[in-house]
Amino acid sequence: MQVILAQPRGFCAGVKRAIKIVSRAIEVYGAPLYVRHEIVHNRTVVEELKAKGAIFVDDISQVPDGATLIFSAHGVPRSVSDEAHARPLRIFDATCPLVTKVHRQVVKLHNNGKKIIMIGHAGHPEVEGTMGQIDEGIYLVESVDGVNALELESTSDDLSYVTQTTISVDDAAEVISALKSKFPSITEPKKNDVCYATQNRQDAVKRLADACDLVLVVGSVTSSNSNRLREVAERHGCTAKLIDTAADMQEDWFEGIGTVGITAGASAPEFLVQQVIERLRSAYPSLTVTTQDGDEENVAFPMPRGLWDSDLEAARAQKEHRHG
Ligand code: SF4
Repeated sequence: MQVILAQPRGFCAGVKRAIKIVSRAIEVYGAPLYVRHEIVHNRTVVEELKAKGAIFVDDISQVPDGATLIFSAHGVPRSVSDEAHARPLRIFDATCPLVTKVHRQVVKLHNNGKKIIMIGHAGHPEVEGTMGQIDEGIYLVESVDGVNALELESTSDDLSYVTQTTISVDDAAEVISALKSKFPSITEPKKNDVCYATQNRQDAVKRLADACDLVLVVGSVTSSNSNRLREVAERHGCTAKLIDTAADMQEDWFEGIGTVGITAGASAPEFLVQQVIERLRSAYPSLTVTTQDGDEENVAFPMPRGLWDSDLEAARAQKEHRHG
């Protein structure tokens, strides 16, 4: 059996930053601390951070005064941010800067008198956070059917759109095309908001699907971009399975399979991919593993004030002093 690893795969810059914010905040300010919503949509990551002292809450009323609170990578509605900042809490915002960029765009469009259509998935925290940046004048569509059902003045030129960062690039293109034909004067952004990591992983999984008999996507069922990777592979004619960990693999998936492609969602750690390879190797000792040609990503986002290297060094020095 042959394994081909997708390139790129796994952690994106926004996820790396969000996890580092929680880990570093625990080290600098101590445990427990509170995180609103799963910091990123990956079960293993969440369990590891829980073990370090992070408490995940759905509502900030569950956070005691004086505590440290972190907003997840998906962002929060303005009402949540306002409520938190009105309380005596130490707050760090792990919202991915690419999501924050969409938030700012929504506010700017709204202030310029535009109605906004958000292309995304209902109930996803990023969508709730982005739509919650303004009180009115923003409408969610999930599909071409959603566009057809939209009851807005079709000659309106005060209309614009934004997209969830982790949706399918191809689905977004279809919905945008339907929007443009229904609302010919809709204002288009220079570029849609699907992020670089989503785009790159979907491009890579298409190439993987062309070369493989089966694609495994390492990622949690709650992860939007991981689900999209599985769908994109299937649309390219390849059977694809979403697995949280190697333990989810079933032996009969591999009967008659010569080449297995492995990718990982933007919130899935690389060690989970390596565990999948090890489990396959134990069943197929002559397994060969190669990595797809593909660009290395070199995007990185800065840490928020209060969690810089100097803050970490000061916290470590203080700890040493206490124990010395
Ligand atoms: S998937 Fe994209 S938007 Fe989401 S955290 Fe990663 S880089 Fe940011």
